[in-house]
Amino acid sequence: MEARIGLPAPWQGVDSAEWSDWKWQMSNRLNTAAEFERFITLSPSEKNALNTRGLFRVDITPYFASLIDPHDPNCPIRRQVLPTEQELYADSSAMDDSLNEDAHSPVKGLVHRYPDRVLMLVTTQCASYCRFCTRSRIVGDPHETFGKADFSAQIDYIARTPQVRDVLLSGGDPLVLSDRILGDLLERLNAIPHVEIVRINTRVPVFLPQRVTPELVDVLRRFQPMWLNLNINHPKEITPDLEAAMARLADAGIVLGSQSVLMAGINDCPNIILDLVHKLTRNRVRPYYLYQCDLVTGAGHFRTPVAKGVEIIESLRGHTSGYTIPTFVVDMPEGGGKVPLQPNYLISMSEDRVVLRNYEGFISAYSQPRDYRPHDPQTCPHCQAQARPGNHQRGVSGLLEGRERSIRPVGWDELHSRD
Ligand SMILES: *Cc1c(COP(=O)(O)O)cnc(C)c1O
Repeated sequence: MEARIGLPAPWQGVDSAEWSDWKWQMSNRLNTAAEFERFITLSPSEKNALNTRGLFRVDITPYFASLIDPHDPNCPIRRQVLPTEQELYADSSAMDDSLNEDAHSPVKGLVHRYPDRVLMLVTTQCASYCRFCTRSRIVGDPHETFGKADFSAQIDYIARTPQVRDVLLSGGDPLVLSDRILGDLLERLNAIPHVEIVRINTRVPVFLPQRVTPELVDVLRRFQPMWLNLNINHPKEITPDLEAAMARLADAGIVLGSQSVLMAGINDCPNIILDLVHKLTRNRVRPYYLYQCDLVTGAGHFRTPVAKGVEIIESLRGHTSGYTIPTFVVDMPEGGGKVPLQPNYLISMSEDRVVLRNYEGFISAYSQPRDYRPHDPQTCPHCQAQARPGNHQRGVSGLLEGRERSIRPVGWDELHSRD
């Protein structure tokens, strides 16, 4: 086997069979200051963080570490995986469980926040650990992982909850599980008649494209429809190795999406995001969400003003293909779920006309129809089918349908009966 050319010093002797073996990559991950210092000069802040006990776990695959630019302390690859002292600074608005997931878990590791879909945490382990991890309260801890009994309890809950039609596997990273365990989980989910789609959220192809073996692809291919949501934050992450892994997945009929986290000093720039989404779509990956960074302990230094996300969407819409534009979302603290934000395009409206503006600032009026016959839910079979009992989480759309006349905070009525 010939040696890989162009690899940094610590891996120059590694032969390509080892380098392309995902298990070799996993067992040769870097986590100590001494290991990093073999190819980069650590800053005092990085060194201090690495030597701090109790810090959120550090582990970086040699593949991902080899993408670090040794001469750039702000390298976006480095900043996503190498800790600094900033993680130790208290941020008064940060929380360990900012999305209140634990309170929305009917069984361990299963988050049921929306009416028709659940998030199933299947492991706490990842190929490498992101410094901005939203689940750093549990992720990385080898003693706090999920096992057979947890999977069974999660699957039982899904089986007895018929409104769940969409299951998102996440963690941790589901693709660090063995092909056999993953295949078995997918098999059991597939056997539940009301589960229509399964999605896998993963960053394994980014950290460890070697894991996307033909055998893994064969496991995933058996369970169509299968949606795979990658988490890609910077164009530098899209290497020829990742492109080849994504092509293997897309060729197998797996639908690919990507969600990105908006982060200060990493991708808080309209042109970085533009390059990223163009590169994604060229690789058959549809940009799905752009996330405002969560209020999670240790990640405060990555946060941008919410305005940055709106500015980025303004810079994309109209200027490039609609297919490349993700939805910018803030995941509401305390478990409110994802809320989409975008610039305002609606200038004004009357019964007759709607005044809109486009990306260039051009303003024009769209004439509304005068002879619209309102849709009749009473005669619509789709509306009738949705009206079944148990489907009561209608929220604001329930107000529009006339099912309710208001939504009031707890205590509102008492507050306003002032006698
Ligand atoms: C993000 C998320 C989902 C999926 O939301 P989509 O908008 O359908 O992608 C489901 N459950 C939880 C708890 C989530 O955080």
